[in-house]
Amino acid sequence: MNNLNKVSIIGAGNVGAACAQRIAERGYADIVLVDIIEGLPQGKALDILESAPILNFDSKLIGTNSYQETADSDVVVITSGLSRKPGMTRDELLLANMNIITGVTQQVANRSPNCIIIMVANPVDAMTHLAIHASQFPRNRVFGLSGILDSARLRSFIAAELNVSVEDVSACILGQHGEAMLIIPRLSTVCGIPITKILPQETITKLVERTIKAGAEIIGLLKTGSALYAPSAAVAQMVEAIILDKKQILPCASYLEGEYGIKDTVITVPVKLGKNGIEQIIELELTAKEKSALINSAKAVQQVVKAMQL
Ligand code: NAD
Repeated sequence: MNNLNKVSIIGAGNVGAACAQRIAERGYADIVLVDIIEGLPQGKALDILESAPILNFDSKLIGTNSYQETADSDVVVITSGLSRKPGMTRDELLLANMNIITGVTQQVANRSPNCIIIMVANPVDAMTHLAIHASQFPRNRVFGLSGILDSARLRSFIAAELNVSVEDVSACILGQHGEAMLIIPRLSTVCGIPITKILPQETITKLVERTIKAGAEIIGLLKTGSALYAPSAAVAQMVEAIILDKKQILPCASYLEGEYGIKDTVITVPVKLGKNGIEQIIELELTAKEKSALINSAKAVQQVVKAMQL
């Protein structure tokens, strides 16, 4: 391997392999891709590596069925786990993924005691909570993919509706990654203008509903498998913010210890991401109605976590 940063990706399925490709192509990290299926991570890693001379990157990739090669990773992305089938909710994956995530997190934490863990497996809020528990890492080093993806979905819908560049659109999404996510239109903007001032309420309602069901929309179309391109792009953005110490403000599934009046719960809030992982939790000024909606969203996560009996 080079002397680049080391990123291990657990699970070489749809999302894991796409993450490996996106991160490798940026050229600043070597990648270890791990899966339980023999040959799968080896084959995908080799295929991505063989694209390097065409795309001009020097990242090295290793595919493996063991955790030995993950030792001393800077960042570990956990994508191992079942994905939803048509008609399934994220919470229905809980028990199956709970066993996988506990084992994987322990393997990772033992070999890379200083790494930052990015959880992807669903239900992601509960799985992030579980990984904090299983790794015994501080909360700044274990967080999940959620808000970047959900807000990218809404941003793309708003941009299409108004025929503007996605670059000019921001979207504010907090809370659970699931049906109870909290979308705040008054803090979602186009060039600084709240969408509540430029879109009719019925259009906003339609876009909000589509965003909440965006993952299911893709599962319904694909029939087998779930979204991978936008999720892997979101993970790559998180990894980049950490490796390049960007101090970027991004919405991530984060463990709250009293922020927003919520304790001992992982939900999406905006955080500052840098080389230490979460370097600050940003508390937005919410209205009383929004605050109580966020507390309800957190309750939906708390119920799922309770079922894990940690
Ligand atoms: P996938 O089925 O394509 O890939 C999962 C991979 O994990 C498989 O290759 C499987 O062999 C591997 N695996 C299973 N158990 C393992 C173990 N113990 N150790 C190592 N590898 C193991 O699924 P996918 O589409 O890549 O999705 C992966 C997970 O990410 C799912 O839980 C999905 O719901 C979730 N997801 C979350 C988000 C998000 O926003 N947080 C977005 C997309 C997908």
